[in-house]
Amino acid sequence: MRAAELIERKRDGEVLAAEDVRELVLGYVRDEVPDYQMSAFLMAVFFRGLDDVETHALTDAMVASGETIDLSSLGRRVVDKHSTGGVGDKASIVIGPIVAACGVPFAKMSGRGLGHTGGTLDKLEAIPGFAIELDGEAFVQQVREIGVAIIGQTADLVPADKRLYALRDVTATVDSVPLIASSIMSKKIAAGADAIVLDVKVGDGAFMKSLDRARELAQGMIELGRQAGREVVCELTDMDQPLGHAVGNSLEVREAVETLRGEGPPDLTDLALGACGNLLALSDLGVDEEEGRRRAEETVSSGAALERYETWIRAQGGDSSVEALPLAPVVRSVPAPRSGYVERIAATAVGVAALHLGAGRAAKDDGIDHRVGVVCRVKRGDRVEKGDPVAEVHAADEAGAAAAVDEVAACYRVADEAPPQVPIVLEVLR
Ligand code: URA
Repeated sequence: MRAAELIERKRDGEVLAAEDVRELVLGYVRDEVPDYQMSAFLMAVFFRGLDDVETHALTDAMVASGETIDLSSLGRRVVDKHSTGGVGDKASIVIGPIVAACGVPFAKMSGRGLGHTGGTLDKLEAIPGFAIELDGEAFVQQVREIGVAIIGQTADLVPADKRLYALRDVTATVDSVPLIASSIMSKKIAAGADAIVLDVKVGDGAFMKSLDRARELAQGMIELGRQAGREVVCELTDMDQPLGHAVGNSLEVREAVETLRGEGPPDLTDLALGACGNLLALSDLGVDEEEGRRRAEETVSSGAALERYETWIRAQGGDSSVEALPLAPVVRSVPAPRSGYVERIAATAVGVAALHLGAGRAAKDDGIDHRVGVVCRVKRGDRVEKGDPVAEVHAADEAGAAAAVDEVAACYRVADEAPPQVPIVLEVLR
């Protein structure tokens, strides 16, 4: 292993051979390349980038570093959905049961939240009894029987990403398009689905702050999918304000259930139904997006989607009733600082306020409080009068609530004019 030479060549802007990239990654997983050399390599990649062949080699090596899930025994085209991470994003909990109720198998492995972004696993664990650990066989069996399973990554799925992500997190090398693309796509490829809808978040609360960067990431992931024989559709969606109203685990599950009942916030409802339309169009049903969306809407209005949610939650050991979701003992409202129109709700800062309340974790092994969070009752473009409640904080105690009220108040910017309307789905790339 010539790790030092490969670092030097990447530092100097050379394109590495696929075999060299593969050797480096697999050498790292075998502990033949130490963290300090891998960190230097990641920083060189951060500045110099990777071309398509190198990114493909990196992704391939990461997939090869562990086990892969074989869903072929289902005899169906299986779909999956993934978000690049945002604030208030509970869409998977809405989308999974809708897609299953439409007769399409939905198999997803999810992650936990870190920093200001939430993770679907943490949200699901707010449900009393819900188990996120199923082995590969039980995962496939559940998808066969009820059409939907969302579980944590099995320990052996893409171990290279686990180690590289932890290293990137502490070496300021997360924010790199080829590194994010290979990290996400290696996990999606290893988890086995044939077709994947990727929700690429754009804006203040997302990794990708601009549409251009989001497009670059989307195109990279579509190409990695193609090389692995998977069809990928990327939706670029607005993350300049939290998605829906609720930010915080139990609160988000409650909002997901409301959305499955047809009573959800418009942005979350639109995003979820649009994603279902794309997922159904990618499935073996032989429908286009429009017909897919129509079928998805029908499962919501008929109650079939909610019923499937309840079946799914029970199958993974959870209590599916909303009443079982834990509540925070202290709820305080946040007053509007002045009269006018909400021009901006700083998504990252709302996520950080929820994190400070205990809804998220600053470090990987921190515990979380599933009860707490923020509910942004008033969203961008809404009219408010000074002192009106714009949001609620749900806290474990009075001191936490008081601090969060100030933090959330500072997230709201109110102006004289209503801001231009921004659709939740900004672009769809295929
Ligand atoms: N999500 C991932 O899984 N990996 C990244 O690198 C960034 C977001």
